[in-house]
Amino acid sequence: MILRRVIEHVKHQNWTAVSLDFLIVVMGVFIGIQVANWNENRGDRELEREYLNRLHEEIEFSITTNKATVNAESTRLAQLKEVGEYLKNESAANLDAKHCLALYQSHIFIRDVIAVPAIDELKSIGRVVLISDDVLRSAIIRFDQFNVEATALLENIRGDRLVLSRKHPNLIKMDPTDIYGERADCQYLEMRQSQKFINDFTDNFGRFRAYSDLILSPQQEMLESLHSEIDRVLELKHEVTIK
Ligand SMILES: [Zn+2]
Repeated sequence: MILRRVIEHVKHQNWTAVSLDFLIVVMGVFIGIQVANWNENRGDRELEREYLNRLHEEIEFSITTNKATVNAESTRLAQLKEVGEYLKNESAANLDAKHCLALYQSHIFIRDVIAVPAIDELKSIGRVVLISDDVLRSAIIRFDQFNVEATALLENIRGDRLVLSRKHPNLIKMDPTDIYGERADCQYLEMRQSQKFINDFTDNFGRFRAYSDLILSPQQEMLESLHSEIDRVLELKHEVTIK
């Protein structure tokens, strides 16, 4: 219809009307684009909010479950440290069944690097830019980068770990009715006299320290700092801080 009107105006050389028609068309296109942009923007903001809510839920859950592992594994690390001190003759023999269990389990790295599905999904659809807050976006990218590096490190640590009870059956004697190794019997005095055992123990101890200090603890710190960034953006306040 507008085309017929323009032809009419051109025929009558009514240039003012032609200019007005042109302006109407340009304005129409402009407004159309603006409305489309505005809709897209609004859709993005809604999607962002949805992702952040999911992310918040997943991070809170991970912090709570990971905290128990961090505590248990730092206790185990401390027990292995005490065994090391005993083997080096630096402490009296005050080792008990808990130390023996820590020794028997020193090849077990129980928890995988924590996966956060909402971040994986954002990455897979290439929409990390959806997060409009620069600081939060950087924190998410840092967290993800840490996860990639920690996964590679954990793979290395687990690689050729040693099962001490298998390599040293005379020094760690298992009870065949005890599937958790809680009643393993450790010959501490003989361990101290065996350089082969000391070498194998030191290898596992080093791996365990790396697992605890380079993966579990920093992961917990990253989860907590990501959590506070999300709280800030979502303007959430917790009565009790999740730690
Ligand atoms: Zn929160």
